[in-house]
Amino acid sequence: MNILVINSGSSSIKFQLIQMPSEALLCSGLIERIGEKDAILSYITNTVKLQKTDYISKHKQGLNKIVDLLLDAENGVIKNIKEIEAVGHRVVHGGNSFSNTALVTPEVKRKIQEFAVLAPLHNPSNLEGILVAEEDFPFAKQIAVFDTAFHQTIPEKARKYAIPNNFYEEQGIQVYGFHGTSHKYVSEKAIAYLQLEKSKIISIHLGNGCSMTAVVNGKSVDHSMGFAPSNGLIMGSRSGDIDHSVIFYLVDSLGYSLEEVNNLLTKESGMQGLTGSNDLRDIEKEAEKGNSECILALEMNAYRIKKFIGTYVAVMNGLDAIIFTAGIGENSSMIRKLVCTDMDFFGIDLDESKNEEKSQELREINSSISKVKVLVVPTNEELEIAKQAFGLLT
Ligand code: AMP
Repeated sequence: MNILVINSGSSSIKFQLIQMPSEALLCSGLIERIGEKDAILSYITNTVKLQKTDYISKHKQGLNKIVDLLLDAENGVIKNIKEIEAVGHRVVHGGNSFSNTALVTPEVKRKIQEFAVLAPLHNPSNLEGILVAEEDFPFAKQIAVFDTAFHQTIPEKARKYAIPNNFYEEQGIQVYGFHGTSHKYVSEKAIAYLQLEKSKIISIHLGNGCSMTAVVNGKSVDHSMGFAPSNGLIMGSRSGDIDHSVIFYLVDSLGYSLEEVNNLLTKESGMQGLTGSNDLRDIEKEAEKGNSECILALEMNAYRIKKFIGTYVAVMNGLDAIIFTAGIGENSSMIRKLVCTDMDFFGIDLDESKNEEKSQELREINSSISKVKVLVVPTNEELEIAKQAFGLLT
């Protein structure tokens, strides 16, 4: 079965065509800067690597270009649109309505729209991707895979905020959790690698967005993001945890509007706010040159991760492994080292030369005396979406 996986963002569409159950990747690609004159379309198959700049005004036009590429006589990977039997969509927020992957129905679309208030940057473009795919792939089943689904197992004591109960019961104000597709994928890989029947794992997803999950026996039991993908760790441009009194102070004493506060905390904070860049590669280069702001920002970033490790060891009463994943987690030996230094009380001991090795494979980077395994597990949210879509349809 050929499954097209679509991750439709506000100005981008990522896609992969995956053959299941073999998991063979037929092609992958990305359209960035939708709505701008110089949108970039990249497309990779086993034999070709293309990049074009074009004006792509809307998602519809972007998806049409993807269809043209898939069917292209020279560089395409299918001959007929009917060869795509399912389209798997990443949907960020499924509220409490979805603990599993779902076949898209009018009711499912209505729910995704309803939860757009909880994920205004993500759900509207995820839904747009579904609507356009329904038109472009009328023969395919449309499947929605929710980032929040993996976290539906978080117990109430960790899920509820300590505010009056009616906000939880009537308004759904609670921890939802995010990056679930990634945390599920990498923790399952780790459990299979470690061959553990019972396991206590901390999954650390460090990309543009960053989050951590405590995973007991394959199930999420606590998570660093909450109601929206904004709190917890320090991220590219999001502050992560901050005392909510700061928001009142900004509004009441400094005259900020709520929109300005939102912008400040989600787009101008985090590593961006601390260093002027949200790209960790630039920050690391500057730190190596001795830039004290960048050195401190990296230390703050790692310090926050350490605090969550401590919290989750306490919550799980033990720890078998920690996993680093996503752009930073997979590539930044510097962040991994900062996180794992002075953690011998927890039985975490890094092998510094293994930490420096570059690889695209799952790898173990702890020393031989480390009680806890330290793993780098490349995430693959697209493959996880294809697996879940395939699982639903077979
Ligand atoms: P993601 O959201 O998973 O694509 O991750 C994006 C983040 O990964 C950005 O902050 C990049 O700076 C970071 N990143 C990507 N490659 C590297 C690398 N080789 N070293 C350090 N950070 C990296």
